[in-house]
This record gives sequence, C-alpha cells and structure tokens, in this order.
Amino acid sequence: MVENTARKGERPPTIAKKPPRKREPNLLAVIDQKGCTGCEACIIFCPVDCIEIVPGVSFAQFQQLVEVDIERCIGCALCAKHCPWDTIPMLSYVEGIKKAPELTFRSVCNQKTRQDVGLSTDSPARP
Ligand code: SF4
Ligand code: SF4
Repeated sequence: MVENTARKGERPPTIAKKPPRKREPNLLAVIDQKGCTGCEACIIFCPVDCIEIVPGVSFAQFQQLVEVDIERCIGCALCAKHCPWDTIPMLSYVEGIKKAPELTFRSVCNQKTRQDVGLSTDSPARP
C-alpha cells in the first residue's frame, strides 16, 4: 500500500464515514480545479460517490468546485470521460497523489492544496 502523501489531516466526519474502497486503484482521478466550473456532471457519474463539492452546498454564495477524495476513488475514469471541460486528468496512483496538491486550490477533504506546497493560490481562472 502506497502512503497517501496528499493527505494533510483527518477527513471531516461526514466524508470519513462514507464507505472506503477495498483496494488501492491503478489510476486516480485528480480534479484540475483551475478548469473546473462546478457543473457537477462528474458527481452524477461517479459510482462510489467520492467527488465532493468545494466549499460545499451550504456556501452557495461562493464559486463551487469539486475535488476527489483520494482515499475512495477507484480509478474508473467515468468522471474524466464525462467532464465537459476536460479538467480531470487520470494519473497513475503514485503520480496522482504526487500531483494532486498542485492542482488543488481548495479542499473539503483536508487534502493538501497549492498553498501547502508553496504554489500561488490566486483564484482559478474561469472559462
Ligand atoms: S464535470 Fe468537470 S467542470 Fe464539472 S464539476 Fe466535474 S470537474 Fe468540474
Ligand atoms: S475515477 Fe471513478 S471513482 Fe474516481 S472520481 Fe472518477 S468516477 Fe469517481
């Protein structure tokens, strides 16, 4: 089992209580939040409900993005196939956990973000 180096701290209880996957995937979906419009199409297609809305439905006044809970993604690629903005790279698991913080501006899963790896935190550009 490869250590999830994109993990920053414990997941919030509402996310942590969702069923865990059975084994580590070969591929990992990583949302490039710079290109995400928050359309939620990927959420509809994810078979394991591991794509979370950022910052959350109770913050409707903010631009919504999504992120993948790395510990629950099974790498099926359905989200990437259906994203209208082509902003979900499918990476090998090892590459994905390495790359995810660079592509993440905000997280509700307590995963590392660009700020945590010393990159610019300017708001993502919108199409
Ligand atoms: S389908 Fe693509 S643009 Fe829409 S919320 Fe998901 S990642 Fe963002
Ligand atoms: S690859 Fe599959 S399991 Fe992972 S986030 Fe996308 S739809 Fe969900």
